[in-house]
Amino acid sequence: MTLFTTDTETIVKPTVDDGDHDRYSHYVKKDEILPSTIEGTPVKALCGKVWVPTRDPKRYPVCPTCKEIMESLSDG
Ligand SMILES: [Zn+2]
Repeated sequence: MTLFTTDTETIVKPTVDDGDHDRYSHYVKKDEILPSTIEGTPVKALCGKVWVPTRDPKRYPVCPTCKEIMESLSDG
């Protein structure tokens, strides 16, 4: 199994269409980011959120669910 702590990167989902709850940075495995940036395919965050990352990253708070999962993974 691969540890998320080494294979995971924080990327953001800037959005203006659905309220503040969507404005978080999510943790996504790097394996999934590369093909996504090349092909524009959706990625899946640790929390289960699926979306297509944009090239316009901005600073958002880390998704609480992703953070929780990351901490539990790195802990055990
Ligand atoms: Zn998340």
